[in-house]
Amino acid sequence: MSSTILDGPAGLVEVEEGVKIIPGANAIITSLDKVVNWSRESSLWPMTFGLACCAIEMMTTGSSHYDLDRFGIIFRASPRQADCLIIAGTVTKKMAPVVRRVFDQMPEPRYVIAMGSCACSGNIYDTYSTVLGCDKFLPVDVYIPGCPPRPEAFMDGLVKLQEKIRGEHMKWGAWR
Ligand code: SF4
Repeated sequence: MSSTILDGPAGLVEVEEGVKIIPGANAIITSLDKVVNWSRESSLWPMTFGLACCAIEMMTTGSSHYDLDRFGIIFRASPRQADCLIIAGTVTKKMAPVVRRVFDQMPEPRYVIAMGSCACSGNIYDTYSTVLGCDKFLPVDVYIPGCPPRPEAFMDGLVKLQEKIRGEHMKWGAWR
């Protein structure tokens, strides 16, 4: 990691954009946004909502082979302790209110990932019973296309969500 010695009596060293250390003082200077966003992106606890075949890929991604724990991502099957809702599969009109209720039980800040073509757009199921995309009743943050998306694509979607969280501004406290 490159570092830059800055001018001034403090002798601050910039170790990455927006993060400076005071050599010898064991201290870091940065913004509250950086700290809050870093802690959130590094400890995503997804609430799973497997509705169809895409859920199998989601479960595979949770296996030891793909090791999501290294990203700080641990599945949590309780909406009250989760901060990311993963919709994996076809959403029917009968199921949509249940999914929405689970989302409403999650504390802020909360995020939504639409996994697979069914969750993104309804896929080929333009029928009387299918919701044509879960963004009809949820604020989706990341769309992952594919039928089904491979675990690598799913992980890419999770990383995209982490990048989005990293760029948030003042999404904490009373200013959220
Ligand atoms: S996108 Fe394909 S694999 Fe995923 S739930 Fe729909 S039909 Fe199944």
